[in-house]
Amino acid sequence: CGIVGYVGSRESTPILIEGLHRLEYRGYDSAGLAVARRGRLRVTKTAGCVQDLRDRLGKNTTGTVGLAHTRWATHGEPSDLNAHPHVDPGGRIAVVHNGVLENAEPLRKKLIDDGVQLASDTDTEILAHLIAATVDAGGASLEDAVRAVLQRVEGTYGLLVLDARNPRELVVARNGSPIVLGIGDGEMFATSDMAALVRHTNRMVHLDDGELATISADAYRTSTMQADPTDKVPAAVDLAD
Ligand code: GLU
Repeated sequence: CGIVGYVGSRESTPILIEGLHRLEYRGYDSAGLAVARRGRLRVTKTAGCVQDLRDRLGKNTTGTVGLAHTRWATHGEPSDLNAHPHVDPGGRIAVVHNGVLENAEPLRKKLIDDGVQLASDTDTEILAHLIAATVDAGGASLEDAVRAVLQRVEGTYGLLVLDARNPRELVVARNGSPIVLGIGDGEMFATSDMAALVRHTNRMVHLDDGELATISADAYRTSTMQADPTDKVPAAVDLAD
């Protein structure tokens, strides 16, 4: 339902929590966030509201890159385990996702047949496993791994992906569910709703369906599913606080 991501030099958790608060008006049933620090993900999630998430955060939820989500369940009941972010068993890849994967069942069945233990009933968790398997196999950048996995997926997504081993970037993708990049000064954001960024920047890059992006503290790169660059320039947007 709602997505916020941050990469920069500030503590990400307060920025993510504040962004989620600004998206609460859209409605949701659970909330969660993940930050990366020293090669590890710290994941906190709850089948409660953003305030419950904030109350649940441990002292270790620090890091200058992170992603957060408010969920509106489509696959699996609202529960702590089904809340996003979803993570692979190795704890390397974190994913937040808006939308619905139409071929979740066959992908899920294949993972189970391959001996993978799924922690949730969501369609989203599949993406974390498939992306982790692709980057673990070596040779693929996170963006290429996301691209390869999305070729196998049918359905809608606004997606953010974080690799704890490369905490300087986030990969973003869109198909049928809105995603906007927010361009800051030495920091970048990605969100499903510009309202989340009102305190931080009014320079936005809208992704089109079928587009991916990699964002880091001081750069962003957009491209198609076929890896052709789409040189997007930011537009200034009026955001009322
Ligand atoms: N299909 C996903 C789920 O059920 C995402 C739902 C959403 O858009 O919040 O977890």
